[in-house]
Amino acid sequence: MKFAFKIMSVLLVLLIFSCSTVPITGRRQINLLPDQTLLSMSLTQYDQFLKENQLSQDPAETQMVKQVGARIQKAVERYFADNDMSDELAGYEWEFNLVESDDINAWCMPGGKVVVYTGILPLTEDEAGLAVVMGHEIAHAVAQHGNERMSQGMIAQMGGVALSVALETQPETTRQLWMAAYGLGAQYGMVLPYSRLHENEADHLGLIFMAMAGYDPHAATAFWQRMAAQKQGQAPPEFLSTHPADQTRIKNIAALVPEAMRYYKAASSSGR
Ligand SMILES: [Zn+2]
Repeated sequence: MKFAFKIMSVLLVLLIFSCSTVPITGRRQINLLPDQTLLSMSLTQYDQFLKENQLSQDPAETQMVKQVGARIQKAVERYFADNDMSDELAGYEWEFNLVESDDINAWCMPGGKVVVYTGILPLTEDEAGLAVVMGHEIAHAVAQHGNERMSQGMIAQMGGVALSVALETQPETTRQLWMAAYGLGAQYGMVLPYSRLHENEADHLGLIFMAMAGYDPHAATAFWQRMAAQKQGQAPPEFLSTHPADQTRIKNIAALVPEAMRYYKAASSSGR
């Protein structure tokens, strides 16, 4: 009886301290993993990834990725500051890299480590198209979707063991799960599609961030139409298996464009 009470208290404490709110949409979420742990795992996995993969040798394209990234970073920081949420970005040290790979993919780890694969550039076409992808991936990160996915994945795959225990007893599964939770799973043997809820949320936040950064949000519907057309080919690229591009999604994005346009117009008139 006493033991059960103890467990209940621990769960209660976990629930109270692990509840946070997604910016812009205001959805309450439960993240079971400590931010600090995720942040330090992020740095390890990110360094490892950069060791195993080659940076693009194209200076113009690399510069474009860094510039679009920096503009979206500023927009995110401004949005969080305006809404008194800046401490949620504590520990972020933004980096934007273009990696040489035919894979159609891009991702952002907690802490602001963003990687774009050269394989997605023919589909993004220009800066605004790239801002769609980077805004969307950064939105996943700042909305802490990875934490939610990792929490759910650990419950499903390991019966909800503590992360520290999992790291010690099942390091490879934990690593694969981590990679999948952050959108680079196919390379490491585990694909975890984002839920419709997370996709809608990342589309919504991403659209506002790109608009605040001075990119016309209409580019988003055009980009996802190109992704949908890509789907007609044979093997779906990784980005499509984690981010399905269907007509419902494109319709939802189109409905969000008018709201994002207000941010875009404000950004254009203030010259930012
Ligand atoms: Zn997504």
